[in-house]
Amino acid sequence: MPSYDLVCEKCGHKFSVFCSISQKENQKCPECDSNDISQRFTTVNIGGKSSGSSCGTSSFG
Ligand SMILES: [Zn+2]
Repeated sequence: MPSYDLVCEKCGHKFSVFCSISQKENQKCPECDSNDISQRFTTVNIGGKSSGSSCGTSSFG
């Protein structure tokens, strides 16, 4: 059974559920009982912050 990271759009509460992908659409916020839920996509570290090089200071004008 997969797990999904969800976030409540109403109160911002983040929670995880273990359910099928069809049940995922029918989740409610355990905090405020809102069904305005969207899925959080787990962020993947791609490269991360480059250390040391300070570049790209563009000045306007
Ligand atoms: Zn909520």
